[in-house]
Amino acid sequence: MILNEIFYSIQGEGLNIGKPAVFVRFGNCNLKCRWCDTKYTWRGNKEVALGNVIKEIRKYKQCKHLVITGGEPMLQQKAILALRKAFPKYYIEVETNGSQPVCCFDAVDLFTVSYKTSNSGNAPYELKTRNEKCVYKFVVGGKADLPEIAVVIKKYKLPANKIFLMPRGVTRAAILKNQNFIVDYCKIKGYTFSTRLHILLGLK
Ligand code: SF4
Repeated sequence: MILNEIFYSIQGEGLNIGKPAVFVRFGNCNLKCRWCDTKYTWRGNKEVALGNVIKEIRKYKQCKHLVITGGEPMLQQKAILALRKAFPKYYIEVETNGSQPVCCFDAVDLFTVSYKTSNSGNAPYELKTRNEKCVYKFVVGGKADLPEIAVVIKKYKLPANKIFLMPRGVTRAAILKNQNFIVDYCKIKGYTFSTRLHILLGLK
């Protein structure tokens, strides 16, 4: 598989925030978000044999929770299926931009779908990753982003209890500055606020 890195940390965002997890970061992405905080996944990745990936994950034997992320991991769904086969009892979550149809539904416990709106600099695309295992996480850079997010939620009839809004920012100061209006909006709409806990804690 095309791999970028494997590391052990806590999940900093979304439904499983705070949970220890082994992060398997796949390489390559089909989008080019201007504020992407993992641009290093766009190039310089390695083709790594499945056996070596499994061996690396097993080093963290205290943890049975995988976060498969990227880049865009749904470009390599055969690799996701292979990881499920290798770790049948693990909790496996996938972080995706939602642009890809799902072929690995049974292999995954949770899809965190982060649709990228125009603040990312990408052209609009179809939200294809939609099923009952999905939650939807939107990155909010400012109040001006909220109307467009509302349009996407309405267009795809995304349920309020599956929506997470998260401030954009790669520093503690940026997250804290950008969060209060999002909390207020979540309270009005019944959405869930997510911080970026790993950034606040200075973790990877
Ligand atoms: S979809 Fe994610 S990994 Fe891809 S460019 Fe955007 S932020 Fe980066």
